[in-house]
Amino acid sequence: MNAHENCIFCKIVAGQIPSRKVYEDADMLAFHDIHPKAPVHFLIIPKVHVNSLADCGPGEGDVLAKMLLKAPQLAQELGCGNGFRTVINTGPDGGQEVYHLHLHVMGGPRTEWKVALP
Ligand code: 5GP
Ligand code: ZN
Repeated sequence: MNAHENCIFCKIVAGQIPSRKVYEDADMLAFHDIHPKAPVHFLIIPKVHVNSLADCGPGEGDVLAKMLLKAPQLAQELGCGNGFRTVINTGPDGGQEVYHLHLHVMGGPRTEWKVALP
């Protein structure tokens, strides 16, 4: 599975750290963010470790497409029928804290969000 030692998200994939799962298949995992910044806030990650979007190449094209296409489906299932926001933080200036590629999906009433729109 190409798990990276000391990668917290690889440990979540391996079940070594618990998470509140939203969705799982052979290629990706979705789980609720531990510090939600909106009423609904979950992360979609590839099961195979990739540091960041900047480290992706053609080999990650399929899983990236699957993650993006799964986002609206899961958002809808979690009650975000009024819309949602998707974010991929990349690198230090992008505010990335966990170096295992992840797509943030945030939704719910905007008045209850803890982040401003750019
Ligand atoms: P980044 O800043 O790297 O884009 O976002 C990392 C996100 O991962 C943060 O929103 C943070 O709350 C979340 N996070 C960090 N550690 C854990 C964890 O152990 N479990 C879960 N569910 N989320 C985590
Ligand atoms: Zn990892």
